[in-house]
Amino acid sequence: VQVLDQGYVEHIETWGSDERIIEAARMSTDKGFQGWGPFCPDCHEPVVLGEPRCAKCGSASTRIPGDEKLLRFLWEHKHATPFEMAGLVIEVQAPIFVFREWHRHRTQSYNELSSRYTALPDLYYLPSIERLMNGMQGQQNKQGSQSGFSEQDAKSLQRYIHQVNAASRQAYMQMLDQGVARELARIVVPVAQYSRMRASANLRNWLAFLTLRMATNAQWEIRQYANAVGTIIAERFPRTWQLFAS
Ligand SMILES: Cc1cc2nc3c(=O)[nH]c(=O)nc-3n(C[C@H](O)[C@H](O)[C@H](O)COP(=O)(O)OP(=O)(O)OC[C@H]3O[C@@H](n4cnc5c(N)ncnc54)[C@H](O)[C@@H]3O)c2cc1C
Ligand SMILES: [Zn+2]
Repeated sequence: VQVLDQGYVEHIETWGSDERIIEAARMSTDKGFQGWGPFCPDCHEPVVLGEPRCAKCGSASTRIPGDEKLLRFLWEHKHATPFEMAGLVIEVQAPIFVFREWHRHRTQSYNELSSRYTALPDLYYLPSIERLMNGMQGQQNKQGSQSGFSEQDAKSLQRYIHQVNAASRQAYMQMLDQGVARELARIVVPVAQYSRMRASANLRNWLAFLTLRMATNAQWEIRQYANAVGTIIAERFPRTWQLFAS
């Protein structure tokens, strides 16, 4: 998933599923996953709500509610440990200031490229004109930003940021050319510099991360990354996602 001007979030690996979460919860009663939707108590096939008989075996027995009900119960009553039985690994390319915020989430595991081993990529975040027009110091939210700059203001701010990034890149490359160690040359790099990492966490912790970082008081840039992680989770854990998002 493309994020900001040069970033991305890439799905690497998922473990578990909505079904596995139910199975984990059912360890307490040793019953396992029973099925989604209302289903036939005789043959265990899903049945269509409102139909008088099971299409498969013809049974007219009372239909038992499906495992959505249990999943909802777990979610609403904060029985959170079954959600720790699933998780995902993603790869992220983001500006360093986004990583500063991201790495505060201690329950994720991280591996990031080392700018002591490798020269940093020639990738710098340049906010869009629209972002800059909404980039005036916030008055209500003292940590945030608000609209206020004209398109012309934004264009000149964007040119200025580009110049600063370019000058910093030039100084960095010049020092590397002179033989300065990568670990030292990097001190002139701005926090707009893009870096890359892999992050891994269980689903419970990913959702806690998203609660904080999709919220409107989170910085706009990390919110774009959180939204991208959300689309990945929604695809792989659709029923849990529905509960989270509602
Ligand atoms: C809008 C916003 C503004 C912020 N502003 C600032 C700021 O100005 N300055 C700043 O320093 N930070 C700031 N933060 C970061 C914030 O303080 C948290 O560090 C960050 O959100 C990670 O949250 P967390 O600790 O819940 O996550 P995680 O580290 O992933 O922890 C998840 C949960 O595990 C438990 N846990 C983890 N470690 C411990 C521990 N050592 N002791 C006890 N329980 C633990 C807690 O229940 C915690 O909620 C901000 C965050 C947001 C969302
Ligand atoms: Zn049946």
